[in-house]
Amino acid sequence: MDRISYNATVRGITMVTPDLMIFQIETDEPRQEFLAGQNMLLGLYGREKRSPNSEPESELLPGAQLLHRPYAIASHSTETCLFEFYISQIKSGQLSPRLFNLKVGDRLHAGDTIKGGFLLNETPDGSDIIMVATGTGIAPYISFLRTHIVERPESKMIVIQGAAHREDLGYFSELVFLEKSYPNFFYVPTLTEADREWSGRRSTIENLLENDFLQNEFNITPDPEWTHFFISGKPQMVHNLSLWLEGFGYRRHHSDDPGEYYIEEY
Ligand SMILES: Cc1cc2nc3c(=O)[nH]c(=O)nc-3n(C[C@H](O)[C@H](O)[C@H](O)COP(=O)(O)OP(=O)(O)OC[C@H]3O[C@@H](n4cnc5c(N)ncnc54)[C@H](O)[C@@H]3O)c2cc1C
Repeated sequence: MDRISYNATVRGITMVTPDLMIFQIETDEPRQEFLAGQNMLLGLYGREKRSPNSEPESELLPGAQLLHRPYAIASHSTETCLFEFYISQIKSGQLSPRLFNLKVGDRLHAGDTIKGGFLLNETPDGSDIIMVATGTGIAPYISFLRTHIVERPESKMIVIQGAAHREDLGYFSELVFLEKSYPNFFYVPTLTEADREWSGRRSTIENLLENDFLQNEFNITPDPEWTHFFISGKPQMVHNLSLWLEGFGYRRHHSDDPGEYYIEEY
């Protein structure tokens, strides 16, 4: 008999690409209200099948071992039972290929507590907010925007989302819709391997920012007093932008030692 039982049901799966999905679950019991940007553990036993388009894992897992990993919640922060995630499949990983094999109605484990310090509500009212993401790093910003955009009309809020191809831009339609709906919100997708149809930006996020894009397009000069940055995604991009911001006098935010840039690496 397994020590921990499954306590949640898959309610929705939207495949963005074969290795990227928007994944919705419903927990059997409500969770406490969380803060936009926090994450929850999702778990499956080693005995669960891997997705057909995954690769073998390096180490064979015992069937009775519960694997769990944190995933950023994309939902509005008042949700207590229905949670949305944006998950990428690491083909030789342990948990994500098992999550990619689930169908609507299947059961899984969802952590009881929701945690994390990647929080928009720790930034001063009125400061401009730049949210930078690659890959599934966009998920916490979807929660920020669903929860807080209405409350911060005085802040410029800009999402810069980097990807290789157009189809990797999860939440593109929602972000375009928000840009049309809120005069203080701006969406900047940028692609590194765009096809000929793409009329948007073609650059890495680092190049865009280092070439004074914020000054030229939005009249924003990186200044820790007025503009706070969130950076979420690939470790190399997070590292490069952290160094760039530190050149302007920014400090990394910790809940016990506040700073002006926040990072989440995955
Ligand atoms: C706070 C937090 C929030 C997170 N939120 C999300 C989220 O919203 N969506 C999401 O998809 N993931 C998220 N992750 C990552 C997630 O927790 C897992 O690490 C990821 O799904 C891989 O797990 P796995 O068991 O499949 O791979 P593992 O078996 O743990 O890893 C296998 C190997 O792949 C490498 N690896 C792990 N991640 C990547 C990657 N992205 N690209 C390339 N190689 C990688 C590892 O270093 C390891 O060597 C988050 C992580 C943290 C710490």
